[in-house]
Amino acid sequence: MDKKILVTQSTIPPMDEYIREIESLWETKWLTNMGSKHVQLQQELAAYLGVENIELMVNGHMSIELGIQVCGFERGSEVITTPFTFTSTTHAIVRNGLKPVFCDVKPDDYTIDPEKIEALISDKTVAIMPVHVYGNICDVEAIDSIARKHGLKVLYDAAHTFGETYKGKGVGNFGDMSFFSFHATKVFNTIEGGAVCFHDEKYKQSLYDIKNFGIHGPEEVKAVGGNAKMNEFCASMGLCNLRHVDEAIEKRKKVVERYREKLSVIDGIKLNVVQDGVKQNYAYFPVVFDPEVYGKNRDEVQEILAGYGIGSRKYFYPLTNSYDCYEWKFDTAETPIAKSISDNVLCLPLYADLSLEDVDRICRIITEKC
Ligand SMILES: *Cc1c(COP(=O)(O)O)cnc(C)c1O
Repeated sequence: MDKKILVTQSTIPPMDEYIREIESLWETKWLTNMGSKHVQLQQELAAYLGVENIELMVNGHMSIELGIQVCGFERGSEVITTPFTFTSTTHAIVRNGLKPVFCDVKPDDYTIDPEKIEALISDKTVAIMPVHVYGNICDVEAIDSIARKHGLKVLYDAAHTFGETYKGKGVGNFGDMSFFSFHATKVFNTIEGGAVCFHDEKYKQSLYDIKNFGIHGPEEVKAVGGNAKMNEFCASMGLCNLRHVDEAIEKRKKVVERYREKLSVIDGIKLNVVQDGVKQNYAYFPVVFDPEVYGKNRDEVQEILAGYGIGSRKYFYPLTNSYDCYEWKFDTAETPIAKSISDNVLCLPLYADLSLEDVDRICRIITEKC
């Protein structure tokens, strides 16, 4: 049997480095509640991402959900968003009592199509929530000008874009807020974790309140908050991983370059775009198959790869506007481009320690066996 290759593998620091990082926790016995690791990681991330304001959270999803909540939108308001995303984006909107209004994506980079946003704006629209999918940066200029014209907030799901810049600017600076995920499978991880980056200082207190029960002092509770704190062990993992993240991105880049070299010559396979002005993080390697030209469809390719012990992921399939858990019923025919990509896309294995020999083996199967 061939060696198994999973679609992703978490990046972790050398074990002794992590142990050294957490040693002080045995002295202080301070395990959570915004201890020194949390404070330090928050500062280091603000510097690394080049953002003014950042609030760490327990995970990416709660960053999105609580970020939306502190905006204080009226229940039943509408948020224009993309169905071509992870469950989290759409669930966060719905769990806030808001209604997602799905806009189609662009065929070139799979991000929300700004030309189709304005037709969806109603008197109930309060925000636009795009996703920088696969690390492809949305058309931030066009989205910004639509939002300003109509007085809407822009909240970016930036879970895929850790460390990316556009025209030299950290991606967390676009829109009113950006949400990052530091989940184990992401380019940078804190095991579980996330963050909200934001411009307006007024959100600082409300985000802090909402992640820590609204507690201001031992006898002072000023807001109806919950609990979404990042603990000291997760923050310590973040401090270690942050030291190695540039190196990890360099290794991912080599993997992606090898894939591109081998697969760009094959008919019926569309690789991800390379956007002008973007410093990439090489988070994912999505491939869109055209079954007419390639000869096999996406599901068949996934099965063949699995036969060789190679994992791949239909990321994102199904579209979030086809979930049956929503009280409103949506129609994926309204987002035909997103539907076609979702039906034909497969993410190939990609992680920092994936060897180039393994990439060659995967490419050989796709080139010859399919
Ligand atoms: C990972 C991810 C999230 C959720 O982040 P968690 O840290 O897993 O909660 C949200 N949106 C997108 C696009 C993601 O990929």
